[in-house]
Amino acid sequence: MPVATVSGTPVDTGHWIGGERVESAGRFTSFSPIDGRALGEFCRGGPAEADSAVRAAAAAFGQWRRTSPARRAELLHRIADEVERRTPELAAVETEDNGALLRSHLRGVMPRVAHNFRFFADWLTGELRHPEFDTRGHRNRVSWDPAGVCALITPWNAPLMLASWKIAPALAAGNTVVLKPAEWSPMTASLLADITAGAGLPDGVFNVVQGLGPEAGAALCAHPDVRRISFTGSEPTARRIAAAAAGNLTPVSMELGGKSPLLVFSDADLDLAVDLAAEQFDNAGQVCLAATRILVHSPVAAEFTERLRAAVRGLRQGDPRQPETGLGPNIHPDHVARVDGFVRRAVAEGAEVLEGGGPNADLGGTYYRPTLLANAPAGAEILREEVFGPVLTLEEFGSEDEGVALADNTRFGLAATVVTGDPARAERVSAALTAGTVWVNCFFVRDLRAPFGGSRRSGVGREGGTWSFDFFCDVKNTVTSP
Ligand code: NAD
Repeated sequence: MPVATVSGTPVDTGHWIGGERVESAGRFTSFSPIDGRALGEFCRGGPAEADSAVRAAAAAFGQWRRTSPARRAELLHRIADEVERRTPELAAVETEDNGALLRSHLRGVMPRVAHNFRFFADWLTGELRHPEFDTRGHRNRVSWDPAGVCALITPWNAPLMLASWKIAPALAAGNTVVLKPAEWSPMTASLLADITAGAGLPDGVFNVVQGLGPEAGAALCAHPDVRRISFTGSEPTARRIAAAAAGNLTPVSMELGGKSPLLVFSDADLDLAVDLAAEQFDNAGQVCLAATRILVHSPVAAEFTERLRAAVRGLRQGDPRQPETGLGPNIHPDHVARVDGFVRRAVAEGAEVLEGGGPNADLGGTYYRPTLLANAPAGAEILREEVFGPVLTLEEFGSEDEGVALADNTRFGLAATVVTGDPARAERVSAALTAGTVWVNCFFVRDLRAPFGGSRRSGVGREGGTWSFDFFCDVKNTVTSP
């Protein structure tokens, strides 16, 4: 079986189906965004591999759903133990694979992966309530029955974190899964397969099909024996998946893109506001939740802008493996070209480049300078479309109502951040905004008990806590006569 060695860790480049490594004839190459090195040749699955993975998952379902919740939870905790033990390897491999900062992987991402498994294991055995109530003496009992085989389709910006956010609740609930990781970051899904096997997860409960979206991903989503599709990715792909799911009426959960606002009011703590704005360059701007539209109240606009410019100039761009690096590469040269296209068209439409505004050629083809744009005319593409790169726009507003209207003038609705020193204003503004999550004087504080998802074109449905079980289960009411 072909193996790639990344940062000293062997990574199997085959599929993982029914508890075995499976090869297929076609290949795709995984490159490191750090320096463009080829990291490995992965098996390129298609309809045949998707079908055998769904069959393996369907065959394992009967036994897994009958496994007690306590035993399922125990196995998920063992997976978490192993993720914790192997964090240095997982972090190093994921940094090579997607270019995000090594220290973020070590301190934030991998601990969160382990926490995802522990949290949903504990939620299943602790928090998930099965309401019981009487109707004219008849007993109602609500249960969360696993739906069956779940197809999980994930993006490259936080590969293992986003995959585990779906895998953990799906498995905890008693489903079996087939994961199709993004072709730009296939590595840690393969390592997770090894981890699940080591933890003693029965064969076929967790499967991985490697390959391209329009091939392996499309085949999975169109498969008639898939009972749920949970997708995180872009809006155009979501439309294709929804169309494929429609053929079988398969329920879908979709976590999509955003164009989230960060509103800075004149009564805000400006140090905090500048820090929160600069935080939007995390992961080189490749964060679905990123507040990429910075909206500033006129009285503080000049001062805020100067301070944010200084913060952007202070960002140190470089190798994501080095501890002093603040901003690493973007995922792929094609993606950088896309980001640059947005910036060029913004300038052509009249935007002014305050900072950055192009690739960082000194570092190589995947590094884009942190970019701050101002004065884009109303309706400009850069104010409407998700760039998914290190590019922020600045706009000014005169009144609270004007700020809210500007913030809400988008087809997305994933998140919003409000920076104000006035609690009454914070309450008014957050109530008026359309978003799955509103942060007041903070950013990216995530609790797995909370619902997570997007409004409008930012998503369909919510996951997190009981919302994840609602999606991955057929909720059943059993009524028993006295
Ligand atoms: P993408 O839509 O291009 O790809 C996502 C996944 O879908 C990949 O695994 C890809 O192979 C697969 N895919 C592509 N075509 C498919 C098809 N026809 N059928 C089935 N699967 C298919 O997205 P991306 O570029 O990998 O990720 C970036 C996007 O993800 C951004 O829009 C970002 O905002 C979004 N995102 C959202 C969240 C969230 O939680 N809301 C989190 C992270 C990223």
